Amino acid sequence: MNYRYDLQNNILFNGECELPAYSLEINEIGTCSICDSSLLSLSYHISEEHIFITTKCISCGAFYVNSYGSDWAWLDEAPLSLVPISISLSNPTINDLNGLKTISINKLNAIFSPGEIEALFSRARAETPIRQYLYRARKKYDLFEELFEIRLEF
Ligand SMILES: [Zn+2]
Repeated sequence: MNYRYDLQNNILFNGECELPAYSLEINEIGTCSICDSSLLSLSYHISEEHIFITTKCISCGAFYVNSYGSDWAWLDEAPLSLVPISISLSNPTINDLNGLKTISINKLNAIFSPGEIEALFSRARAETPIRQYLYRARKKYDLFEELFEIRLEF
């Protein structure tokens, strides 16, 4: 069976069947078959015949899905592939100084370090940012967009 997972909306896709989560309770669910670390549950799903628990390894980050019968008898563990996070084209893109100034500093602070924020502003002012900070900041743009629905392009 092919399992895929939408991490943003906690939806499990079992083949073509779409199963929203009924619980997001976090429990320790066994150990990772790759690295032997603990697996924590992400979400619980139910279909007509099965219960599913999605899990993530606390160490290597691997995702799994455990399936159970309706009586909670364990059936199987399978690898879980993630549905790519859709970068919505409707999210506004910020790529100039005026735009950058409209973003609250709390949002920037939530994701970026002070050095990275300074690099963003330098870049926006067409100055020369510290390349290392800008490089680090760029790696966080997707996360920033995921959380705040604002696309940065600097
Ligand atoms: Zn692992």
